[in-house]
Amino acid sequence: MLAPVFDRSIADDPALLDEVEGALVSKARGLRFADRLEQRYQADTLEPRRHFLTAVGIGGALIYNLFMISDWLLMRDMFVWVALARLLLITPMFIVLILWSQRLMARWRLEAVAMTGAAISSLLPLIVMIYSNSPYKVPYQLGMLLLMVYCAFIQQLPTRFAAGALSSMLVILLVTTYLSDMADFVVWQSNALFFVATVLLLMQASYFLERGTRRSYLHALRARLLEVQLTAIARTDPLTQLFNRRYLGEVLSSVWAQAVTQPASVALILLDIDHFKAYNDNYGHPEGDTCLRILSRVIHHTAVDGGGVAFRYGGEEVLVLMVDADVAQAQALAESLRAAVVALAIPHPVLGEGACVTISLGLAAAIIPHTSADALIASADSALYAAKHAGRNCLRFARLEAVG
Ligand code: GH3
Ligand code: MG
Ligand code: MG
Repeated sequence: MLAPVFDRSIADDPALLDEVEGALVSKARGLRFADRLEQRYQADTLEPRRHFLTAVGIGGALIYNLFMISDWLLMRDMFVWVALARLLLITPMFIVLILWSQRLMARWRLEAVAMTGAAISSLLPLIVMIYSNSPYKVPYQLGMLLLMVYCAFIQQLPTRFAAGALSSMLVILLVTTYLSDMADFVVWQSNALFFVATVLLLMQASYFLERGTRRSYLHALRARLLEVQLTAIARTDPLTQLFNRRYLGEVLSSVWAQAVTQPASVALILLDIDHFKAYNDNYGHPEGDTCLRILSRVIHHTAVDGGGVAFRYGGEEVLVLMVDADVAQAQALAESLRAAVVALAIPHPVLGEGACVTISLGLAAAIIPHTSADALIASADSALYAAKHAGRNCLRFARLEAVG
């Protein structure tokens, strides 16, 4: 089965592009986007964030355990306890959280898990201080700084989660250093001030970081949407909204290229509006354009329903391509196309009383890549020529007898 190279699902979304551009020029200081865009942001960034948090989580866990050196140097009387807790409590917790986060399907849950992991891991070394007699508690508790920096700059937690992690760490630090008689009250106060200021600065950093990340996302999304729009414009004929001849060339190359490894049956229907010059000459070009648009819409829908895809081939000629379709299916679609145009009953009175607009069709089918695209189109064209000669409003099949 050939890939659906002519999938129209890349349809543009002008409303979304407007929202993105609105958000980019907005002066609002809040971080959240409008609902629809926010949902898209959360969904688009879920997997990248999961990979990122997993990688920095593993790295963070390794460095966290390296701090056993500092436990040994500064907190020797409690070393066994801290080491056991790091290895048997916190490290398994990291593993569980990392595994758990692989299953989470909402971005906020992922961030909440990352925040919780960081906050809990900050608790352990400091709580041990309460039971230690070490004279080095002041330098020891400075390790908390690294955990705070880790949350804000390495995990890059969204601001509200960074706020949650940093404030819990601050409370843990203030309480444990107070309870552990780390130093006199003046030292505790200045230390507390130092950490409060650090948290405030890191909160600002987190805000600017998230703002930057969100703006980068908007720019990337805008580029993606514009690319989709441009691609659609480059492939579409502006008058009929059918795919254009340039895209037909791309599709044929792709279909033939894929058929080199996996031969496929391809059918081409070339159709042409009957007596269209007379239509223009008698009712005017604007009327001719309207007629062409109406016919193209019906041809597009009928082609899609019948398993084909329609391209504007020339002025009033349309090519319908069917891949992996047998001759009977192609004939059925061609007949549906002819009947659908007749059913429109667009009057063409200059041809006679009660006359309506009709189309003639030529059909050619082959196994590719044995037959070239040009040869197949040429066959369909001669079949179309035969249909015109046979009196129009009918179908001819290249090298086979007529149907319709
Ligand atoms: P036949 O049944 O043999 O096909 O006759 P015909 O008059 O349709 O054939 P011919 O090729 O002589 O004329 C095609 C006409 O289609 C010529 C042109 O005026 C018209 N046409 C082509 N493209 C457009 C278009 O974009 N808009 C309009 N209004 N007319 C177009
Ligand atoms: Mg014509
Ligand atoms: Mg023509």
